[in-house]
Amino acid sequence: MSKEASFSGKKLVFIGFGSITKATIGLLVRARAFNLSSVVVIAPQIEQHQPFVDLGVSFIDVALTPENLGHVLRDVVQPGDFIVNLSVNVSSADLIRFAHAQGALYLDTCIEPWEGTYNEPTLTTSQRSNYALRDQLLALGDELGPGPTAVVTHGANPGLVSHFVKSALLQLAAKLGVAVPEAQGRLAWGELAMALNVKVIHIAERDTQRSSRIKSDDEFVNTWSVDGFVSEAGQPAELGWGSHEKTWPPFARHHPFGSNNAIYLERPGASVPVKTWTPNGGPCTGLLITHNEAISLPDFLTVKDGSVLLYRPTVHYAYHPCDDALLSVHEYVGRGWKLQDSKRIMNDEIAPGGVDALGVLLMGHALNAYWYGSILSIDEARQIAPFNTATSLQVAAGVYSGIIWAIENPDRGIVEPEQMDHRRVLEIALPFLGSLEGIQTDWTPLDTINALFHKPEGELCPWQFEHFTAV
Ligand code: NAD
Repeated sequence: MSKEASFSGKKLVFIGFGSITKATIGLLVRARAFNLSSVVVIAPQIEQHQPFVDLGVSFIDVALTPENLGHVLRDVVQPGDFIVNLSVNVSSADLIRFAHAQGALYLDTCIEPWEGTYNEPTLTTSQRSNYALRDQLLALGDELGPGPTAVVTHGANPGLVSHFVKSALLQLAAKLGVAVPEAQGRLAWGELAMALNVKVIHIAERDTQRSSRIKSDDEFVNTWSVDGFVSEAGQPAELGWGSHEKTWPPFARHHPFGSNNAIYLERPGASVPVKTWTPNGGPCTGLLITHNEAISLPDFLTVKDGSVLLYRPTVHYAYHPCDDALLSVHEYVGRGWKLQDSKRIMNDEIAPGGVDALGVLLMGHALNAYWYGSILSIDEARQIAPFNTATSLQVAAGVYSGIIWAIENPDRGIVEPEQMDHRRVLEIALPFLGSLEGIQTDWTPLDTINALFHKPEGELCPWQFEHFTAV
């Protein structure tokens, strides 16, 4: 049965009308997978929507709140419809509760709380983390039990990068002649990563898209949500904590609840630089911005014997945003973390030639380091689908492939990317990702300048977290 046929007569209801909703609708136009007159958008202050009205999309101009969510959505969402949450400031958990009760499918690209949670002074640093938000969502999954599929955290990252990790592990196994282990008839991903000796995984992204319009003073410029980026940039830096690590980082803390597979730093991610490597220019300095995959991937790959930890990789995001966004973060932090008065998400003004390289960098194994991911230029993105940049199209590819996967697997309850079939998801996303490439590199975070300052005692392991932060 075709994709359209299996969803015919149902509505696709988007919450939010920002850069990613527009990009996803652009991808739907290209993919011809849905009838656009079945698409409804719910968001406040809807502007510049005439091209979408012309395509058949309908709009409801309202801001969802804890008080009006059920009332607004009950009039729109029928059993079997699909809610796609691409908003900021609307609780993923409350939307999932609603979708479950209404018999609707659901997808989001991050676990979002209601407005104000990230800056709520009564919450501890740990309670404001993605670790805590994920922990609450896992508890909600246990409470709701089986039901309509709710795919959480499925954009590009979090989202597609978890599938990239599985692909990269299989590619390394083939290159190194390592047998792929199975347990209870299923591929044992943690055992495979352990057998390959993967010590560190970066979600390594460098965006070189540039605006033809110079950034103004007092302006925050980005290639996707300014509000979304500012929220996560101010959350504590978070990472899965590897079993090979020998030195506890300054300002690091354990969470007092949950799996304990990830830790946080008592520092906002935008103030934690980390060395990384991407094919888009080689070595660079990224920011250790918190993301759900820095919690879910180490959880998924942890190997224990009873309660004894045998293996876990260090996992985190290392993000080199586009130069204007990096300048904007610098200005924002310098102003005492007070947001600029003006915000701009770049689109039409992006000059030709920029590229977003988004992938996973697996380090510490017999091939040293291996990057696998999407290399997509602004020029390719514009040719592939309307209303898109390279960044938004990578995210929209994650959203679209997650929607199709959920329609094909409609009764799985709450699902994280790691629980999905990576081959099927990447098959759906592939036409929108530019080139998917696997590249070996001899790069390590050790460099000649730092060697002058850090005199190693005994054998030096380049893959310790302290070497990535020594910038
Ligand atoms: P955006 O800032 O461009 O748009 C956000 C939208 O949310 C706006 O239309 C705004 O009006 C709407 N909104 C705000 N409050 C609302 C409310 N109370 N009710 C309904 N709508 C409301 O954001 P974007 O760039 O489109 O990103 C959308 C989401 O996707 C964000 O949460 C962002 O963090 C996430 N994202 C995820 C990934 C990924 O790869 N996983 C990548 C990029 C963005």
